[in-house]
Amino acid sequence: MTLSLEPCLLLGPGPSPISQKVLDAISQPTLGHLDYQFSTMMAEIIKLQQYIFQTKTAVSFPISGPGSAGMECCLFNMIEPGEKMIVCVNGVFGARMREISERVGARVVLLEQPFGEAVDLEELQKLLETHPDTRCIAAVHAETSTGVLSDIEAIARLAKKYGCYTIIDAVTSIGGVPFYMDDWGVDAVYTGSQKCLSVPPGLSPVAFSRRAIEKIKSRRQKVLSWFYDVNEVLRYWSNSHATSKRTYHHTAPVNALYGLYQGLLNLSEEGLECAWQRHLGCHLFLEEKLTELNLELIVPKAIRLPQINVVKVPEHINAQAVRERLRQDFSIEVGDGLGEYAGKVWRIGLMGEGARIEHARQLIEALTIIFKEGEFYVS
Ligand SMILES: *Cc1c(COP(=O)(O)O)cnc(C)c1O
Repeated sequence: MTLSLEPCLLLGPGPSPISQKVLDAISQPTLGHLDYQFSTMMAEIIKLQQYIFQTKTAVSFPISGPGSAGMECCLFNMIEPGEKMIVCVNGVFGARMREISERVGARVVLLEQPFGEAVDLEELQKLLETHPDTRCIAAVHAETSTGVLSDIEAIARLAKKYGCYTIIDAVTSIGGVPFYMDDWGVDAVYTGSQKCLSVPPGLSPVAFSRRAIEKIKSRRQKVLSWFYDVNEVLRYWSNSHATSKRTYHHTAPVNALYGLYQGLLNLSEEGLECAWQRHLGCHLFLEEKLTELNLELIVPKAIRLPQINVVKVPEHINAQAVRERLRQDFSIEVGDGLGEYAGKVWRIGLMGEGARIEHARQLIEALTIIFKEGEFYVS
C-alpha cells in the first residue's frame, strides 16, 4: 500500500500551495546532516534568508519547527526574566507573543487593540514615555487572524528613539508585502515556511541583528530553552566558520530543508519586488470580483493585507456550509475566522503560489455557482 491523497487548492491562511519544483526538491536523496553537499546548501539557505529579510548583516538561519517555534526562539533569546517589554496585541498571534513572553518571565506591558485594528503608534509612544525601562517591543507585522498590516518601520523607529529592541512576527508578511530588516532597524524577526514562501509547514526562518546577537551573548542567565538557544544552534548553522566545521546540535530535517532551499530560490529568482506586486495584483482582482458578488472585505484599505483577504459573510449566508461545499465539491480550502471572527468571516489566502489570478478566478467561479443555488441561505 502507498499513501495516495487528492490535491486541494489551498486558499486559506496557510499552508499555501506548493510548487512542483519544491515537491521535487524534497524528494531528493536524504543526505547526512553534516554532509559536505548538504553543508554547502545550508550556506546558500543563509544567504537566501538574508535576501528575503532584506538584511546584509543579520545572523540568519531556519529553526526546525513551525512559525510558533521561530516565535519562541526570538522571545526566549531576546528576553531575560524580569526585563520589561511592550507586547502589541491586535489579534491571535500578538496574544501568542504575549503568552510566551510571560512564560519567559518578562514583565509584560500590554498595548491591546480591538480585533481588526493596526498597532496604534501614539499609544505605543505614550507607553514608552511611561515605561522608560522597556527593553523590547514585540509586534506582529501581518496579523493573519484579522488581515491587518501594522507599520513596523514606525514601530522600529520608536524603539530606536526609546532605546529598545524590536521583535517582529513576519510569518505572513515575508514574500507577500515589503519588509526591510536593515533599513527599518529590526532586531529579531521570524517567518514561517508555509505562508508566502510556499514551502510545506515545519520550518521557521529567523534573523537577529548584530546588536541583538550582542544582547544574547551578554545575557546574565542562560537561554531557558536549550533547543532554541541561538548560541547553541549557531554551532551548526553559523556561516562565519568553514562549512566543514559545523558541529552537531540536533539532526536537521534534511529533506524539509531541501524544500526551503528551493522555495527561497524560486522567490529570489522571481525577485521580492515582483512577488509583492503579484500578491497585490491578485488581491485587487479578487476584491473586484468579490464586489461583483456583493461581498465586502472587512479591513480598511490603508491597513489591508493583500495576501489574506477577510471577507464579511452576509447574515443570510451560512459561512461554514459554504466552506464545506467549497472543500467537498470544488477541492478549494478557505479559512474560517479566528477568535472573535469565528463563523463570521472567510479568510481567503492568496499566498505564495496561491497568489495567481487563475486561482482567484477558480474560487470566484465556485462561489458564483454556490450562491446561484442559494441552498446555504439561512432565512
Ligand atoms: C501562521 C502564523 C503563526 C504561527 O505559525 P505556525 O507555523 O502555525 O506555528 C504566527 N504568526 C502569524 C502572523 C501567523 O500567520
